[in-house]
Amino acid sequence: MKTYHLIGNLKMNPVSRDAVDRYLDMLRHEFVDGLPEGVAITVAAPFPYLERFASGLPEGVGLAAQDVFWEGEGAYTGEVSSAMLRDLGVSSVLVGHSERRRYARESDDDIAKKAAAAAEAGLGVVLCVGETAEERASGREADAVAEQLGAALSGVPSVHARRIVVAYEPRWAIGTDRVPTPEEILSVRIVIRRAVAERFGHDTAEAVPVLYGGSVRAVSLPETCFDAAMDGVLVGRESLVPDEFGRMACALSERATAGGTVPDIDRI
Ligand code: PEP
Repeated sequence: MKTYHLIGNLKMNPVSRDAVDRYLDMLRHEFVDGLPEGVAITVAAPFPYLERFASGLPEGVGLAAQDVFWEGEGAYTGEVSSAMLRDLGVSSVLVGHSERRRYARESDDDIAKKAAAAAEAGLGVVLCVGETAEERASGREADAVAEQLGAALSGVPSVHARRIVVAYEPRWAIGTDRVPTPEEILSVRIVIRRAVAERFGHDTAEAVPVLYGGSVRAVSLPETCFDAAMDGVLVGRESLVPDEFGRMACALSERATAGGTVPDIDRI
């Protein structure tokens, strides 16, 4: 059976311990009968509340951080290492999210160092890539994504390649309620598959999950995930709404358990 990935990026929310506890109560209620089959669910929580999430997430839901630093320890004020995250029960980390590229001015080089350090430390790395509105308007989306991905993967040793998940998040679709067509998503997915194959070979490229992110809701899963042959979704705002997040998990599970309905991108 195919496994779909459902990753919630809570961003800088919830904003207090009480609000975190309310969120976790509601999320546990969503999955009170256990997690749906065929879906790997992860929640990326803010640093101050990671420990609270580690003990309060529903059984089987993975915990991710939203950023990491490339050094292991030392004089790096404000930074957080992979080892610290692992010590708190974190299993994966978002790297290169467009809001980090934009507000923290993260460069491709920073992102490459973060991806390499996190993968070497044993964390799963959710590598976010995506073009700007201007790049898409000028037909440069494939080049932009291939360049970001090539740079980000450059430091990751092949032996850790299977710790990578790629999230295709067009910047113009994040937080805007605009989504690309399935054909547009699929064509970038093919570019991603090719870039991963160039770096790590075809077998690894087939094994590396590729997710779509940007204004996903449960009702848009057919266009953003299934028809575009994606392996799951990275969800921002809607992951803050536990019943909507639960609906997405159920829809992904239904598709996974239906089996055999996923387009094979090698034949497209
Ligand atoms: C995100 O921040 O990764 C994201 C996809 O956000 P949203 O779903 O709110 O567009």
